[in-house]
Amino acid sequence: MREAMFYHTFSDDGTLTCLLCPHRCHLVPGFSGKCRVRKNIDGRLMSMNYAELTAINLDPIEKKPLFRFMSGTKTLSIGSYGCNFSCSYCQNYSISMGEPVTRSVGPERIIEEATELNVPSISYTYNEPVVYYEYVLETAKQAKKKGLANIMVTNGYIEDEPLVRLLPYMDAMNIDLKAFRQDAYRRFCGGDLEPVLNTIERAYQQCHIEITTLLVTDMHEKDELENMFRWIAGISPDIPLHLSRYFPSYKHQAPATPKAWLTEVKNCADQYLNYVYLGNIPTT
Ligand code: SF4
Ligand code: SF4
Repeated sequence: MREAMFYHTFSDDGTLTCLLCPHRCHLVPGFSGKCRVRKNIDGRLMSMNYAELTAINLDPIEKKPLFRFMSGTKTLSIGSYGCNFSCSYCQNYSISMGEPVTRSVGPERIIEEATELNVPSISYTYNEPVVYYEYVLETAKQAKKKGLANIMVTNGYIEDEPLVRLLPYMDAMNIDLKAFRQDAYRRFCGGDLEPVLNTIERAYQQCHIEITTLLVTDMHEKDELENMFRWIAGISPDIPLHLSRYFPSYKHQAPATPKAWLTEVKNCADQYLNYVYLGNIPTT
């Protein structure tokens, strides 16, 4: 646990507002935010999951997925728990919304491990890195000093100021663009579209980005997706896009995305973007 950054206390009764993500949770003492990992303790906002990791793995960088950044290398992937979204189809719900077992691993140990394993990068992934922000920032700063690259796999739901503070330490990001309709973001993810678009635009100015859209059965409309591809191409047609196949998970039990729909959507994306990949398709 560590005191959190980005919060505002505005009354004598210890009530505060968290300013890390656009939810801007208003918390009285004893209460946690929507992410469940930032808690008001006696008028101070605490990051409850600081250095509490649920996973440390060595992954091919393509698994993040990043297909056009440090290709062919491995990355030390770490994750904590908690998330500021509540996607009905979350494929990682045991760590994003559950009470997983953790172990305490400080930033220094992560850097040592990356060095010992001789990997060129660290990836902040598995659950949403925004909600273990302080740990990501500290680790990324130390990693940078050692010549390691930092990668964030994120839903992009973060306020401007924390994003601007973090970007100088990030070398690549894979950002989820879950839908291109505000009502879909609200209904399926419990968030808003606009801040995610802002994150994509800002991150593109400062680091390598790739975008992932999980094509969830019953969630998307064809026009919506075409508008999305046009919008991405407006930033750059060279931004890689990963269209990933959904499988039933958590509260969303509709059948897996039909393969014909994946192909149709990819064909549409190919008209606007130069690097479109289909993902999460079993080969057997
Ligand atoms: S980071 Fe957590 S506590 Fe802070 S505004 Fe977002 S959901 Fe609320
Ligand atoms: S943003 Fe990712 S980790 Fe968070 S609830 Fe949605 S799918 Fe799960």
